[in-house]
Amino acid sequence: NIMERTDKKGYEEAQKRLKMAEEDHKKILPELRKESRRNYLSKREAEKLEDLEAEIADEEYLFSTDALTERERKELEYKRNLRDLAKDYKKAGAKEKEERKNRYYMPEEKRSKRDMELELEMPMEGGGEQGRWEEERLKTASLSFGAKKEREKGLKAEREKYQLILEEDEIINFVSSAEQEQAALSQAEVQKQSIQEVRRSLPVFPYREDLLLAIQQHQILVIEGETGSGKTTQIPQFLMESGYNDGGMKIGCTQPRRVAAMSVAARVAQEVGVKLGNEVGYSIRFEDCTSERTVLKYMTDGIGLCLKVVVVIIDEAHERTLHTDILFGLIKDIARFRPDLKVLVASATLDTERFSCFFDDAPVFRIPGRRFPVDIFYTKAPEADYLEACVVSVLQIHVTQPPGDCLVFLTGQEEIETCCELLQERCRRLGSKISELLVLPIYANLPSDMQAKIFSPTPPGSRKVVVATNIAETSLTIDGIIYVIDPGFCKQKSYNARTGMESLIVTPCSRASANQRAGRAGRVAAGKCFRLYTAWAFKHEMEESTVPEIQRTNLGNVVLLLKSLGINDLIHFDFMDPPPHETLVLDIKYLLCFSLNISIFLYLSRYKCSEEVLTIAAMLSVNNSIFYRPKDKVVHADNARQNFVVPGGDHMVLLNVYTQWLESGYSTQWCYENFIQFRSMKRARDVREQLEGLMDRIEVEVCSSGGDIVPIRKAVTAGYFYHTARLSKGGYKTVKHQQTVYVHPNSSLFEEQPRWLIYHELVFTTKEFMRQVIEIDSSWLLEVAPHYYKNKE
Ligand code: ADP
Ligand code: MG
Repeated sequence: NIMERTDKKGYEEAQKRLKMAEEDHKKILPELRKESRRNYLSKREAEKLEDLEAEIADEEYLFSTDALTERERKELEYKRNLRDLAKDYKKAGAKEKEERKNRYYMPEEKRSKRDMELELEMPMEGGGEQGRWEEERLKTASLSFGAKKEREKGLKAEREKYQLILEEDEIINFVSSAEQEQAALSQAEVQKQSIQEVRRSLPVFPYREDLLLAIQQHQILVIEGETGSGKTTQIPQFLMESGYNDGGMKIGCTQPRRVAAMSVAARVAQEVGVKLGNEVGYSIRFEDCTSERTVLKYMTDGIGLCLKVVVVIIDEAHERTLHTDILFGLIKDIARFRPDLKVLVASATLDTERFSCFFDDAPVFRIPGRRFPVDIFYTKAPEADYLEACVVSVLQIHVTQPPGDCLVFLTGQEEIETCCELLQERCRRLGSKISELLVLPIYANLPSDMQAKIFSPTPPGSRKVVVATNIAETSLTIDGIIYVIDPGFCKQKSYNARTGMESLIVTPCSRASANQRAGRAGRVAAGKCFRLYTAWAFKHEMEESTVPEIQRTNLGNVVLLLKSLGINDLIHFDFMDPPPHETLVLDIKYLLCFSLNISIFLYLSRYKCSEEVLTIAAMLSVNNSIFYRPKDKVVHADNARQNFVVPGGDHMVLLNVYTQWLESGYSTQWCYENFIQFRSMKRARDVREQLEGLMDRIEVEVCSSGGDIVPIRKAVTAGYFYHTARLSKGGYKTVKHQQTVYVHPNSSLFEEQPRWLIYHELVFTTKEFMRQVIEIDSSWLLEVAPHYYKNKE
């Protein structure tokens, strides 16, 4: 049934038609892509699609593929691609219609278990269901027909190209279930759109009216939508636009992360067209950027504020942070006696059924997602050094993959800085051999002007790499990301109730997390996610989902917090996932006798050094961000740090830093000269003031030890006796668990290695390290905690 080309006239005719069609399609292609933001085809486009299919069928009928010239074959391929793209959109449109039907439902209409399982399985296959996968395979096969050799040649050339840049043994072999290349939505195209156009293009936009209606009809509404669909930035604006603020009423939106609160508020202020801090503002711990006029407030600490607003949005609910979980319990209660209060629980597409259940079967409003397929690649073998593997993967992507930005997930500031440095170093060495690579970090302590940089558009011809903590998993959406590199780790607080030990450790992230991360690659076009672990590890070594923070934290602070809100019956507090009973009881017990805040306060009166201990507690609370070590002044910074060292240990060093700063009149200049981070110091000062207020309330006298360091160290011992470690062969052993641990190289006691010490926290990086250690005398242990140590001696 394949006709040879014989008729010259017919051939010329076909040629002309092909050319015209090509011109025509070049025009509709961008439109089609833009329209894809609506997820369905218009009538005109549907007709075009029909024409296109007819044309392709014609041509396939008329000419044998072998007889086509190179150019003609290309044109035909081009058309087929176009057809497939259009078909995809048509399908997406149909799917969307279906979703539209199911979008808004009451939980009584429970779906069958099987449906839910299917839904859970889907993203695990990399965002593409089986059918799609098969289709992609077929497409690849048909497109490469007759051109297999060419492709192989191309691949070889590509490989050779990056072998020039990367050593052979460095190259990471990724395996994937499907290979595909799809043109990315042109960045320039996206940027050209004005702010209003961008707003209109977000998935939540078409549901504005439905959503407002649902909010009107229900007091509590759960809103589920893919990350980046516009929940955080758009919904509060919808509410503002429809008059919820009339009479100066306020809308509050809680965020688990400081950076997210700041950045989102800035974006919304820009969209609304007001100055940040006027109508739209944010408030995070120790920083309030709001005014009398503020009607929309993004905040990290929603607990104190939820009484003063007309709508409260609990955002990022799926993160299940401690604050969010407590807020759930409180809000549920408050909503009962404030029928005018609207509560919106916004979450990524995870676990929304549970939220609905907790809030007495509140309805779930689903914003249909728009997600392009993401191909998942795994390493063939586990990577020994994931940091190095990240660096190599970024470069590998940079030299072999089409344009598109890259997002790397690491666990914390230190790692991120190292990774950025390594990348910059490698790029410098490669010089003009590669095109420009913009390396941008993002983590909580990064100054805000640096934070804003990740959102600025990538200049043409270069590629942006954002190296981020978990913050980019769901809180922040960076447009233009096509590639994601996921080493599969995150930093997590973990807590052992029996030992009272809380530590921050780097652990494998959950499968749910890994899937969220992968999803970041498929927002603007089909993307790729490179997992630096094996497919086996993903299936067998990772937890299904992340354990809520409330179940792995020291509840001492929760107990204090709830008590300060007048809630005393903690055992019966309405927790969504109650902390383990044992933890709660033990924590209350600890809190009453020995644990951090209270115990220290109790002992303060005995050791008469509350001034100093308050300072130390405040400095410890700002979490290792005191010393500043710029890359170009490492030696100066290290010298400056060395100058603060005093006998006794890191706690005493912190005290010394604070005291000198106080003597300088809390000077910024002083901080600058001594390589101390002013922001952290300012925060420590605020914490100290709060603690002082607390002391006042429990009537502990504020006094100083007058330069004697023994009482100070005794007071710390009293508060932390269960964090004792003793020097032994090959390191230290914790008293409680006989676990082998080491002094962190940053510590002032790193070289001294005293016989007994108390650590503030354990961190697991390359080894189990003790961070912030203080030297003690073993005889004090019996003095401060005889019940605990009598049997041990
Ligand atoms: P969701 O809350 O559903 O995850 P968002 O409302 O945060 O979605 O994001 C919607 C859009 O707003 C995204 O395209 C995102 O890139 C954009 N956006 C959010 N914050 C900023 C910012 N600070 N600068 C530029 N764009 C932003
Ligand atoms: Mg959000």
